[in-house]
Amino acid sequence: MPAQKKTPLTLTSRFEADETGTLRHLPFDVPKGVDQFRVAVTYNDQIDSIPTLSGGNTLDVGLFDQQGTEAGGAGFRGWSGSARCEIVIGKTWSTPPYTAGVIKPGAWNVLLGAYKVAPNGMDVEIQIDFNPDVAIPDQPPVPDIESLQRAELPPAAERNWHRGDLHAHTVYSDGSETPAELAVRAYESGLDFYGITDHNRAQSPAKLVPRGDDWPVLVPGIEVTTYAGHFNVWGTDTWYDFRDPSPEGLQAAIDAAKADGGLVAMNHPKPFGPDWSYGADVKGYHSIEIWNGWWDRLNNVSLRVWDEALRRGERIVGIGGSDVHHLNELSTPDNPLSAARLGWPTLWVQAKKPLTAEGILEAVRAGRCFLSDSPAGPQIYLTREDYAVSARVVGGIGTALALVGASGIIATEAVTTDDQTWSFAVNVLGKGQTYVRAQLHNEHGGFRALTNPIWLKDPADPAS
Ligand SMILES: [Zn+2]
Repeated sequence: MPAQKKTPLTLTSRFEADETGTLRHLPFDVPKGVDQFRVAVTYNDQIDSIPTLSGGNTLDVGLFDQQGTEAGGAGFRGWSGSARCEIVIGKTWSTPPYTAGVIKPGAWNVLLGAYKVAPNGMDVEIQIDFNPDVAIPDQPPVPDIESLQRAELPPAAERNWHRGDLHAHTVYSDGSETPAELAVRAYESGLDFYGITDHNRAQSPAKLVPRGDDWPVLVPGIEVTTYAGHFNVWGTDTWYDFRDPSPEGLQAAIDAAKADGGLVAMNHPKPFGPDWSYGADVKGYHSIEIWNGWWDRLNNVSLRVWDEALRRGERIVGIGGSDVHHLNELSTPDNPLSAARLGWPTLWVQAKKPLTAEGILEAVRAGRCFLSDSPAGPQIYLTREDYAVSARVVGGIGTALALVGASGIIATEAVTTDDQTWSFAVNVLGKGQTYVRAQLHNEHGGFRALTNPIWLKDPADPAS
């Protein structure tokens, strides 16, 4: 449409209250000769996206270029959720999380997601300005690793165990810091690895962080974020469709991630997680995030979801992550309402050196991992011996060890020394125990550490 060349466009759309949770594409034409354009989105009665707030409007925004809107396709330029209402797309720089690159003329699409709609509806207006000449902001330099102070933590008590945190957000979705700033914090916190799992990101964070022998290992991921539940995928480079929140749509996205070799986790299945609303309709995830941020934020609900799966004989790996979004907000371990902190909880994995993202994910997939409340938190190693299960607790003085099976808590022990091991004979653990796992409690019953299960017999195989 030559008449529109360099002329600003205005698009409008309206969502009624009964269209809450629906998404739609709004096509617009990009003329020839555009090096940069700005998309400014406004709407009435705007409220924050936190799950506990309602009564107003929250709009999510994304963008597809002329290559189309196909699931997993190259046309996806980014999705900023409700975190940004003004977006600049350019040849050499775009507002994070959008991908920069040549702007080809043709039919592009703004993606609108009505996360929350007020009783009187949501009227959306989108102003698009071509070649607005917005100055590209300076990128903050990555500090020299020698200038950073790394936390001194107790070493891993057993060989080839490493600590990290696989669930974190940056400015490439609704976080406050850049991927490089997250890398710096991971190094300073003493972590060996860290994940970046931005919501529905279009581009892998791998090129956005410092790499090298001394830097923690990045495990690139994505948090596939739908209106009915979130799941993380690590180890692949593409994106997965988040636009169809039906069980069939979600199953197709999980299947696509698995076909690509990704490790899939059901995220925070608990109230305000936001929750996972698919129940048994959606299957095939490798793991469940049973510990998200501070333990007291209803993680006992997620733990129950996992325990129920284990009791059904499903060999699903329990994992955890901080889900940190803001590295510099007030964050205090004794206040579950304060901001999450990187490494709280810490995921420990057993993987050979040199540590790689593939080795970390392989360990998680195999269940060679446990959780502790922080990078300096207690370590707990649960191993199978011939006729016994042994639990070694290091750095856990003052905690209580609980051995948990299909029937609930089987045994408890007080931890009184810094490095203590117990052996539980399998034949006295009780009949019908298909698995045992271990957890460490503080004096208030809160969680300090938690292992994956050891399977004693296969419920499908009576001879085991
Ligand atoms: Zn999430």
